[in-house]
Amino acid sequence: MYPGGDRQKVCPGLYTSLEVGSEPASGYEVAVAETAVVADTEDGRIVHYLQPPVKLAPGDKVRGSIDAERRRDHMQQHSGQHVLSAALIELYQIPTVSFHMGEEYCSIDLTTPSLTSEQVVGAEWRANEIIFENRPVTVRFVSRAEAEKLGLRKLPPAERDELRLIEIANFDLSACGGTHVTATGQIGSILLRKTETVRQGMRVEFVCGGRAVRTARRDFTALSGSAKLFSTQLADVPEQIRQTFEDVKLLRKQRDEALEIHPVSDLQIEYSLISRGPEQKIFPALAELGIGVTAYGVLSRGLLGGSKPAAKGDLRVLMPRFAGDNLNRNVKLVDALQALAEEKRVRPAQLAIAWVLAKSQSIVPVIGARTRPQLEESLAALSVQLSPEDLARIENAVPASAVAGSRYAEAHLKHLDSER
Ligand SMILES: [Zn+2]
Repeated sequence: MYPGGDRQKVCPGLYTSLEVGSEPASGYEVAVAETAVVADTEDGRIVHYLQPPVKLAPGDKVRGSIDAERRRDHMQQHSGQHVLSAALIELYQIPTVSFHMGEEYCSIDLTTPSLTSEQVVGAEWRANEIIFENRPVTVRFVSRAEAEKLGLRKLPPAERDELRLIEIANFDLSACGGTHVTATGQIGSILLRKTETVRQGMRVEFVCGGRAVRTARRDFTALSGSAKLFSTQLADVPEQIRQTFEDVKLLRKQRDEALEIHPVSDLQIEYSLISRGPEQKIFPALAELGIGVTAYGVLSRGLLGGSKPAAKGDLRVLMPRFAGDNLNRNVKLVDALQALAEEKRVRPAQLAIAWVLAKSQSIVPVIGARTRPQLEESLAALSVQLSPEDLARIENAVPASAVAGSRYAEAHLKHLDSER
């Protein structure tokens, strides 16, 4: 267990049992503290904070354990950093000025104006060679004067008279207070990642040991997912992406040329609270091109107004949304809409029209009416004001995914190419 600070992450411990009493034999368990956080005090003592708190008297004995998995991870990153920094000196004489250990990855800052990809690969391979050779890593304490004679890779600023040296046999010697492996093989492997320019030089991200395996697995999953999309090999993914960009550029150019010859100013398409397909691809494309929308089927053939097929010859019985159990399920959605409409003191049909009006200024709903009262009711929807919160509540009450049945029968849908 050790506190965080400087370049170190806190390493908490676990108190699994506490024996309290002046003699170990008469010790008894008073409590189990689940975590201990450790902190430095100004006078140099180290304090362990127990959570939950446990009262202890001088002479009481406690038994604690470290989080072994976290400690191993810290050791792998710490020692891996020494190996990498030493490899960068050995191969390219590039010094490391600082080290950062994050929860996901680590990074070092280098005093160099640039770093080529060959240098990245070279340093990575040299560092891994040192790991494969399983060189001993030893710790010793020396005076500052001795350390100056030994020629460390990096001598810390003068603060303490005694320095803790970490030595990787015949490869690196540097002062460090971190936890380290006893032989380089325990680092496992080192994987260099992103490089970027920072104020004082270049920053190199890297991961060691278990992190390297997890990172490589995550990268592989992402890359093989992309390869599957393109039905290609992993190595061909960048070329496939480049080709796809080229294709998209060409298609856009052709589309713009076509629109110059035959401009489109408006698209008429079915759109309602329960037919929201165009939101996926069509509306974004229209918005990009400045093309308006005339929306029909805003009430989904009366369904959203509470109308059901009744008389013989009502063609709606042929539509999946009005058929059998689908209709029962869809009526439940209309009931939910009805409840919200009552709150607003309007009819469900008015709320459904107002929803379309509020979705976008470029959508003009087309409303059919068989009678004057129906027309009056629809026109009154113009004065229903809906806030973004209202829209969200309506869409939650009538989720597009809950609609049962397609707009048309399967055979008819085959002729529709708009929402494929
Ligand atoms: Zn270190």
